Amino acid sequence: MKFDVMTLFPEMVNQACSHSIISRGIEKGIISVNTINPRDYTLDKHKKVDDTPFGGGAGMVLMCQPYFDCFDSIDKSDDTEVILLSPQGEIFNHSMSVELSKKSHIILICGHYEGFDERIKVYTKAREVSIGDFVLTGGELPAVCIIDSVSRNIDGFLGKIDSAHFDSFSDGLLEYPQYTKPRDYQGMKVPEVLLNGNHSEIYKWRRKQQLITTLKKRKDLFDKFQKNCNNKEDLKLLNEVLNHYKV
Ligand code: SAM
Repeated sequence: MKFDVMTLFPEMVNQACSHSIISRGIEKGIISVNTINPRDYTLDKHKKVDDTPFGGGAGMVLMCQPYFDCFDSIDKSDDTEVILLSPQGEIFNHSMSVELSKKSHIILICGHYEGFDERIKVYTKAREVSIGDFVLTGGELPAVCIIDSVSRNIDGFLGKIDSAHFDSFSDGLLEYPQYTKPRDYQGMKVPEVLLNGNHSEIYKWRRKQQLITTLKKRKDLFDKFQKNCNNKEDLKLLNEVLNHYKV
């Protein structure tokens, strides 16, 4: 998977991608993260990339020319997905992350200041994506969030040890509680079932905990899971949980 990130602040993206599992994914050649700076494409002798908004108002708006030319410089294929980071976009979530992980090339266009001249959205035919209902100073952190999450869903990106299989959202439920050594810390004990080596008991306990955690923290996800559940074991556990918590 190739990520091309159009940004006025490439270091914000390069730095964030130079650590831990993301940098390992780059070293293994599973992903590549390339930054392209629209400022390098401006025809303005002062390297200007923004200007005041027509009609008045606060802040500076990103100009068409550097963004159009920067965008045109990127090689694309039929499998290229173009994403423009915007607080007005579709909200990024797990299913979008899985969908994007099937692509071979993603262009992420980061805004800054007051955002883009509207014609940049039209020209690039980009899908507008938001990472939540709040406003950040720029699209760099959202771009890194998307790179991180999408990469985790690419086959081979995570080693077995970091497997995303039981992560929250992967099957519509939140993850079960996790514990590590020691068994007893300041009188707070690890649940006995996790210590006995009985894998089917452990699986059952964890599955039930997933249901309990989701019911308590995300009733919306729990209701959706319940509606679509047709696995016999899950249905049995669902009934146990519902009878216990009587919601
Ligand atoms: N004036 C714009 C508005 O009200 O919609 C906000 C511009 S924001 C200060 C600057 C840039 O940060 C945006 O162009 C976008 O690229 C990025 N950004 C801010 N919040 C974001 C979010 N929640 N999701 C994705 N990108 C965001």
